[in-house]
This record gives sequence, C-alpha cells and structure tokens, in this order.
Amino acid sequence: MDVLLIDLATDPLIKLYGAYRTCYTPKTPREVWDDIATGVVPREKIVSFVEERLKTGHVSPLEQVVFWFGISGVSRSLSHQFVRHRVGISFEQQSQRYVRFTGKNEERLDYVMPDSWKDAGKTEEFEKLMGEITRVYREAVAAGIPAEDARFVLPNAAPTNFQIMVNFAELLHIGDLRLCTRAQWEIRQMVAKMRSAIVQKVPELGRYMQPKCGEKRLGYCDEDEKAYRECPLSAVRPHKLVVIETFKQHRGSGVPMRDLAAEDFQAAESFREKSTTAPG
Ligand SMILES: Cc1cc2nc3c(=O)[nH]c(=O)nc-3n(C[C@H](O)[C@H](O)[C@H](O)COP(=O)(O)OP(=O)(O)OC[C@H]3O[C@@H](n4cnc5c(N)ncnc54)[C@H](O)[C@@H]3O)c2cc1C
Repeated sequence: MDVLLIDLATDPLIKLYGAYRTCYTPKTPREVWDDIATGVVPREKIVSFVEERLKTGHVSPLEQVVFWFGISGVSRSLSHQFVRHRVGISFEQQSQRYVRFTGKNEERLDYVMPDSWKDAGKTEEFEKLMGEITRVYREAVAAGIPAEDARFVLPNAAPTNFQIMVNFAELLHIGDLRLCTRAQWEIRQMVAKMRSAIVQKVPELGRYMQPKCGEKRLGYCDEDEKAYRECPLSAVRPHKLVVIETFKQHRGSGVPMRDLAAEDFQAAESFREKSTTAPG
C-alpha cells in the first residue's frame, strides 16, 4: 500500500484563520487578510485562534481546506468501503474496464492478501485460487471477452489505485470512523498513513485526525458496550454510558427529552439554571 499526499491547500492554517475570523469580526475579509499579510496578526496568534476554534462544533470552515492523495496497492474490499463516503470527497479510481490486469507477476494477477490468511497457514490455497482466477481472466480476455466483462471473475483482493481530493471536515469524519478499531484493518492502515502524511506537513491540523474516541474528537466511545469492552482503547477511553453516569453523579439525573414541546425547553432551561449553580 502506498499513500502519497500529492498536495494541500496553500497554507491551510491561514485559510482557516481567514474563514473563522470572518465569522467573528466586524472587519471585512479584505481587512482580515490585510492584517494577515502585514503581520498585524502574528503567526502564533493565527495558530492559537485556529486551535481554539477546532475545539468547537463550528466545522464548516474546515470545508475550505482540501488535500489531494494518491493511493495505490489497496484492495477492492477497501475501495468499496472508501467510496461510501459521499460528502466533501472526490474519487478517481483505476478502471477495470479500460485497464487489463496482466499483473507484474507472470504467474498470476497482483492481489492483496490479509495477514490472517498467512497466520492460518492458508497462503498456498489463497495463491492457488489467485492463479486459477488469473488463468480464467486471461483466457477470457484472449477469447475476446471485453475487460469490462472479464473482470466479473476478479476477486475482492484485486488491487486498485485512487487519486482523491478531500476537505478537512470530511477527513476528520473519515478519521472518526476509520481510525476506530471497529473499522477494517486495511482501511484503518490507509487512513493512518493519510494522517501521518498530514502530520508531517501541518502537525497543528494532522493531530486532530483521531478515532472518534480521541481526546480531540468526541473523547469517548459511542459504540455498543460489547465492542467497547473488546477494544484495546477501552483501557484509556471512557464509554458514553460512563460519561452519562458520571454526569448524573455530579449534576443529578438529566431531564428526559420527550417531544420537542415548549415545556421540554422550559424544563431544560430550569435544569440548566439549577445545574450551573450546582457544585462540581
Ligand atoms: C465500522 C463500520 C462498519 C460498517 N458496516 C457497514 C455495513 O455492514 N453495511 C453497509 O452498508 N455499510 C457499512 N458501513 C458504511 C457506513 O454505513 C457508511 O456508509 C460509511 O461509513 C460512510 O460514512 P457516512 O455515511 O458518514 O458518509 P460521509 O459522506 O462520510 O458523511 C459525511 C457526513 O455527512 C452526513 N451525510 C452524508 N450524506 C447525508 C445525507 N444524505 N443526509 C444527511 N446527512 C448526510 C453523514 O452523516 C456524515 O456526518 C460501515 C462503516 C463502518 C465505519
């Protein structure tokens, strides 16, 4: 698997500063950008202002910063999961219609084999099947069957390549889901490589890419309790039920949400007043 950070929006921190600042200042964007250009706002202030905003739920400015990646040698199992992300990301993927898979290996097509096959001592069977698929695929192409039809015999293990463009809001969301230990190993590995590439270029942003239980994201696990117990991160991250229970212990039992009726808002308001005066 190869993950290349091809390019990113020029100076993403300044782009984010401009976007966030425009929301919170009476100044015009021209004045904001003049302040940046003339150094009236020093770099440290830009970084700390952006970092403070990243702690909030104000996510839309993150859509103004984009990254381009080139990804190769991942399986079609991965790609099917990856292309389910549909907002804030554009994909170009190697075609199985226009590209014929002859493979670097003379014996058989290239493929991705999970370690679990090796661990189970099943490498030979896996390779044998790939060899057989290669034979049938090549014979099909040789018999004049178009590549778009010959590919029907290709496996999920077939490798594929992408060039993608993704904005930072979506990248964080992808990190939430795909860096989580519930995600499949291969896509987790790929997203971890995307994260490392960003950390190298813009550490102030890259470190925000975490699984959703990370302290810079939700901060707790919202998966079911069984999955939580099985996750190695449960040693260091709380589960949502623990968070709710802790809240109850310190602030009393919450007001149940019924319908979105006026009395619920009033109840919530009186609860908020009580809770803000409560100790702890
Ligand atoms: C551990 C795991 C297991 C999975 N298992 C399965 C499975 O068994 N079967 C299966 O089919 N899929 C499965 N998926 C895929 C999953 O259902 C999503 O399709 C995938 O994660 C894409 O994420 P997203 O829906 O958040 O889309 P994204 O495009 O990444 O969404 C970005 C954001 O926009 C919101 N959004 C996007 N489109 C809409 C919309 N139309 N309306 C409102 N809000 C929108 C999303 O809620 C999200 O907040 C799994 C994913 C994970 C991580």
